[in-house]
Amino acid sequence: MKKLISLQHQAETSYIILNTGRCKACWACVDVCPQHVFGKVDFLFHRHARIDQPENCQGCLLCLDACSHQAILSIEKTHDNISL
Ligand code: SF4
Ligand code: SF4
Repeated sequence: MKKLISLQHQAETSYIILNTGRCKACWACVDVCPQHVFGKVDFLFHRHARIDQPENCQGCLLCLDACSHQAILSIEKTHDNISL
């Protein structure tokens, strides 16, 4: 049970944060990431992207542009928002 709950949490690399609660499982980020950072959770009602290999992220932000559901934010932008 703990493992299922943890899959719903935000995950991050050094450059981006993935909010799985907003994810619509379109897999655009999985397809666009040149570093294979993302994986898929696709089990019954649990369908969302996940960050499998955060250490591979190089900060290109292609995933951020590809996500039309605002499920991915840049760390910089997130910090800006928090400091408002
Ligand atoms: S910032 Fe670039 S390398 Fe990092 S997860 Fe997004 S697409 Fe992949
Ligand atoms: S592009 Fe956005 S909505 Fe689509 S799978 Fe990735 S995080 Fe989810």
